[in-house]
Amino acid sequence: MSYLVPLSFPVFEGNENLYLQKVMSSGQLATSGEFIRKFESKLAKKVVSHQAVALNSGTSALHLALVLLGVGQGDEVICQSFTFCASANPIVYLGAKPIFVDSEEETWNIDPELLEDAILSRLALGRKPKAIILVHLFGMPAKMNEILEIANKYGIPVLEDAAEAVGSTYQGSYCGTFGTIGIFSFNGNKIVTTGGGGALLTKDAGLIERAKYLSTQAREDLPFYQHLEIGYNYRMNNMAAAIGLAQLEKLDTWIAKRRLINERYRMLLADIPGLSFQTDNEDSKSNYWLTTILIDEQLTGVSNDRLRVVLFKNGIETRFLWKPLHLQPVYKFAPFYGGSTSEKLFLKGLCLPSSVSLTFEDQKLICGLIENELSKVS
Ligand SMILES: *Cc1c(COP(=O)(O)O)cnc(C)c1O
Repeated sequence: MSYLVPLSFPVFEGNENLYLQKVMSSGQLATSGEFIRKFESKLAKKVVSHQAVALNSGTSALHLALVLLGVGQGDEVICQSFTFCASANPIVYLGAKPIFVDSEEETWNIDPELLEDAILSRLALGRKPKAIILVHLFGMPAKMNEILEIANKYGIPVLEDAAEAVGSTYQGSYCGTFGTIGIFSFNGNKIVTTGGGGALLTKDAGLIERAKYLSTQAREDLPFYQHLEIGYNYRMNNMAAAIGLAQLEKLDTWIAKRRLINERYRMLLADIPGLSFQTDNEDSKSNYWLTTILIDEQLTGVSNDRLRVVLFKNGIETRFLWKPLHLQPVYKFAPFYGGSTSEKLFLKGLCLPSSVSLTFEDQKLICGLIENELSKVS
């Protein structure tokens, strides 16, 4: 259905049309062409000191990253439980096993203490994890210093799922540049979209070359088709890259707008007991891709679902937070380290409309409906 106020709607107000026309007239629509190179270099310049490979989704970027890290049949990979299924599914594609870890309450991302518990427990079983996947949920940077310290202590590479955190920073550096490999998503409702798309980032030039090679069917540089390895058809196409380049030119403006939207929600919903926000701190700057709130049903008498339904009836799209993967039926088999933090966040949380095109009037309407519903029970 189409909403009066959607959760996160893309804007195409820059050079998208101009660049697309250039692609069409060049005839290079597929996975080679000037916009792929331009998009990659713009992205690399943006995040500083890293190189980027443009791919056709965030999921394929995660899959390829795990291949590059040497994950294979029977391996174990630690993964933040509180995330979208795409963070963990590629572990299973490779015949490896996810080991889920709970979140901490500050950033809602992987809890460093529980991460260390999980590593020690797996080591005691004689099973050293091959990689650690962490997520910057809804754009909020994870506790990178603590996580990297533990990862380095045990010599386990970090894969940063920065799918939602394009442009977010932690201690002044961009999310996606802390781990051995980082990935972005440019899916339809992310802060930068190419329709469908993703990217893999790393400082390691060897890994960049290998990512390009494996994502284009592992073709040898010969006049005929010669393959020494199994590759993937994961490269971004030139049309998507043209849209992506135009979108990246707007990224800073959009982050400023999403942060303003977040600030306005805080102002409009201030001082409501039992209602709180996912909040960044002096170390971190979230892109606030989505503004997310927690509603304590015991304090307010109103559940997140009740607010969702009221807003839905008024044409306003909201969404629950990700249901933790350790609670997903399909992942029943996977070990989990932690308590009920991510489960509680899931049961209380709601993502509010955060499109760049959202107006102050829209926000007043949304917050008015929320306040009205809360006032019915108090
Ligand atoms: C969107 C998303 C992905 C997957 O990206 P796609 O481009 O949709 O494949 C992975 N992880 C997280 C946390 C996401 O939000």
